[in-house]
Amino acid sequence: MKNLSDINVIRSVMAKHGVTFNKGLGQNFLVDPEVCPAMAEAACLNENTCAIEIGPGVGVLTAELAKRAGKVLSFEVDKRLLPVLAETLSDFNNVEIINEDVMKADLPKIIEEKCKGMEIAVVANLPYYITSPIIMLLLESKLPIKSITVMVQKEAADRLCAEVGSRDGGAVTVAVSYYADAEILFEVERDSFMPPPNVDSAVIKLNILKEPKVKVKDEKKFFSIVKACFAQRRKTLVNTVSNTTSYSKEHLKTALKAMDLSETVRAEQLTIEQLAELSNNL
Ligand code: SAM
Repeated sequence: MKNLSDINVIRSVMAKHGVTFNKGLGQNFLVDPEVCPAMAEAACLNENTCAIEIGPGVGVLTAELAKRAGKVLSFEVDKRLLPVLAETLSDFNNVEIINEDVMKADLPKIIEEKCKGMEIAVVANLPYYITSPIIMLLLESKLPIKSITVMVQKEAADRLCAEVGSRDGGAVTVAVSYYADAEILFEVERDSFMPPPNVDSAVIKLNILKEPKVKVKDEKKFFSIVKACFAQRRKTLVNTVSNTTSYSKEHLKTALKAMDLSETVRAEQLTIEQLAELSNNL
């Protein structure tokens, strides 16, 4: 089997199939031989796992997943990579490449059809231009996903895994915390990729909870209030929410007072329980 983290192997297999790097699709391929095995191990895969990958590139992580999981479903939007992957993954009979944009694919249908009865784990080196949309799609899909182990930009990792109620927290932090326990596993320097991106990266793992962390009366309303709370981070919660929703300043001040919170509080100072209570009370 080819060493898919060897720069010369990547160059030669891409050249053979006439493929060049597409920056717009976030094509920065891993060339550090230790990263993919470490990601695959961290995902705790077994014979009964269907590993879902987004963006196989030339298949370096895909191969590590295929060695450990019962099945690998890998979504790749760039059809030029299909003949490359057919060659690099020819040793495996448990890998299926799906040539679709993951944001447009009918994930529930595909997973129901192809991973029936299996445990689902998402493992990917994500294209950075759509990191948050992909993570939100997976979290909100209510698919039977056990965990999401992904490489993201370091800054995104800090935000996704921040404590709700801390300076690093934002709307996406609340969403992650609502659905999962999140941790940063390890950092990866920019020169571990070809071509190197302009930022460092980190691998994070989201262990999906059986029940959301807090009880809310209306999930849609909760997330729209959370979004409004963090829309203008430097402003007080009262100002930002009244500017971006139909709730008046007085209404918001009354709701905060009932929770013993100051009317000058900012969203980043609230815990997820307080955000849930605010949404339930409004
Ligand atoms: N897994 C490989 C690795 O680690 O070297 C490649 C990772 S590269 C950062 C991201 C991959 O995602 C590229 O192969 C790119 O073509 C693919 N991609 C970008 N946007 C996508 C989308 N919307 N749906 C599916 N794949 C996508």
